[in-house]
Amino acid sequence: MADYRNCMECGADLLADDIAIHRKLIQRNAEEFYCIDCLAELMGHTRPEIEKLIKYYRDSGQCTLFR
Ligand SMILES: [Zn+2]
Repeated sequence: MADYRNCMECGADLLADDIAIHRKLIQRNAEEFYCIDCLAELMGHTRPEIEKLIKYYRDSGQCTLFR
């Protein structure tokens, strides 16, 4: 079960990035997650902005959530 999650809002399948950015932006130890679309709406951002953040954290190599 560990690696299979769905968005708690819309039920979309989640990728590792979706989970990582949720943990980064919402709650580090979250057990339920939003997909990027729902997360973007929740935070008042657009999907491209969230994707840009994901890329930023991934490229920085600083965040252990994005490895
Ligand atoms: Zn969703």
